[in-house]
Amino acid sequence: MKKKDIQYLKGDKLKHFVKVNDPYMPRGSKHELSICKSCHATYREKKWFIDEELYKSSIKKKTVNIVICPACLKIRDNFPGGIVTLGGDFLKSHEDEILNLVRNEGERSLRDNPLERIMSINKIKGRIEIQTTNEKLAQKIGKSVYKAYSGELEYKWSEDDKFVRVNWSR
Ligand SMILES: [Zn+2]
Repeated sequence: MKKKDIQYLKGDKLKHFVKVNDPYMPRGSKHELSICKSCHATYREKKWFIDEELYKSSIKKKTVNIVICPACLKIRDNFPGGIVTLGGDFLKSHEDEILNLVRNEGERSLRDNPLERIMSINKIKGRIEIQTTNEKLAQKIGKSVYKAYSGELEYKWSEDDKFVRVNWSR
């Protein structure tokens, strides 16, 4: 485990992030709707969702609050809530289907909650690293890969539970 990374997230940067970015989180003000200008996620009654039709019909209204949603902020700041690392020989021979599963999980999650999404998928030295905007999606991805292909799965949490590393290998 790269302890350094966890400590990095536990340290000032996290406080900074929360402090700096909280004001972006719409707070049920006089605005009827808040819309993320980057991904079109819409915020209403304390819930984020994706509705392109609503976006199109609302974006020009004066009552709409234009924001950048917390997920887009994390992507912009490269600030993942979870990192899933996949490795092993089995992965190498089944890479495409495993990646399909991962992407499907990401898409399903995005539909359920636009704040839970895959930030990036990268190949690093024969491993695949998936960054997610929150810790829940990283867990879900680990779990569904494990469910489909067994192998070995482990979670490593930061002390404040806001960040998780999920390692799977087979
Ligand atoms: Zn957004």
